[in-house]
Amino acid sequence: TVAVGGAHPYHISIGPGLLDDGERLASTLRGSDAFVISDDSVAPLYLQRVVDALARARPGLRIGHWTLPAGEASKTLEGFGRAISAIAEAGMRRDATVYALGGGVVGDLAGFAAAAWMRGIDCVQLPTTLLAMVDSSVGGKTAVDLPQGKNLVGAFHPPRAVLADTGSLRTLPARELRAGLAEVVKYGAIVDAPFLDWLEAHADALLAGDDDVLAEAIARSCAHKAAIVERDPFEHGERALLNFGHTFGHAIETEQGYGGLVHGEAVAVGMVQAARLSERLGLASPADTARLRGLLQRLGLPVDAPPGLDADALVAHMRLDKKAQSGGLRFIVWDGAGRARVLADVPEDAVREVLRG
Ligand code: NAD
Ligand code: ZN
Repeated sequence: TVAVGGAHPYHISIGPGLLDDGERLASTLRGSDAFVISDDSVAPLYLQRVVDALARARPGLRIGHWTLPAGEASKTLEGFGRAISAIAEAGMRRDATVYALGGGVVGDLAGFAAAAWMRGIDCVQLPTTLLAMVDSSVGGKTAVDLPQGKNLVGAFHPPRAVLADTGSLRTLPARELRAGLAEVVKYGAIVDAPFLDWLEAHADALLAGDDDVLAEAIARSCAHKAAIVERDPFEHGERALLNFGHTFGHAIETEQGYGGLVHGEAVAVGMVQAARLSERLGLASPADTARLRGLLQRLGLPVDAPPGLDADALVAHMRLDKKAQSGGLRFIVWDGAGRARVLADVPEDAVREVLRG
């Protein structure tokens, strides 16, 4: 268990069997309404199990549920509207709890619906992807995408609890496991050089889905995320470091219309680009870039941008990215393993050189 402090403290529980643990699931309830949101890949595997576990633990609980089509393309205002309609039709009251059962797409959308319904009801995150366990379920950021950019509409709404059932990773497609490893590598890159060494030493075990090694990677990642969001919940400073690789990555996702690389893959490419930018600006060495690139490659992740992306369009997306403020482009750069920082007013020329490859 990892504790997240601050104005709205909560716990992240990590371990097998949590989705069937009715008492644990129900212990987070405030009232007698529950609403489970999932997607159409995760629901057939886990939705009924969660509903049954809750019903067993709390006979008489009113339980509704709603499922969206799997994938980033569902994380839209339309999807948000449909989720809200489903919550309204189910008659969920002010003390209801939304359970977000799925990956980061479900977590972000369900979290935003919970933030907005009746100006905010409880949300419990039940992450079922590695990425959601190590990153998106923790920290209270919720959002949907617009054609103009990722996560442009959203709210800060900390979860009431996070229950990460590591057993659910057994059904996760290999590509999605690798995508999650990109965000794990991110923690090593930005704040924890020894963790990067550890990841290099355990790359094969991670790829093989070794339970103990994965559990350790999740716990170490969550501890970093928890510590950072506790110190800077609203991203006035340090929390921005978690966006390492994301200005480049989000631009790729947006330009591909949320239908090309998945988020973790785009972040892998983006981190290599951020490293190359750092190198161009004289902050990090070619050896630092090569090391990051090598580890991501070993983990089966893409490290080069897909061909044919338009540099002008990418730069335009970066300008609308939330991390860009008025004025110049703003990037998370690094000085090598474990040492990232925010750099404002990055010259566009340097960015374009990186995009040219
Ligand atoms: P995702 O939610 O699309 O899940 C990936 C795929 O795996 C989906 O097709 C899903 O149906 C399937 N799946 C999920 N769990 C499964 C399981 N246990 N077994 C079988 N299939 C399963 O993608 P993701 O990578 O989890 O999340 C990416 C999203 O998270 C992006 O939208 C990104 O912006 C967001 N994100 C948010 C934050 C935050 O702080 N809020 C942080 C990082 C990422
Ligand atoms: Zn991310």
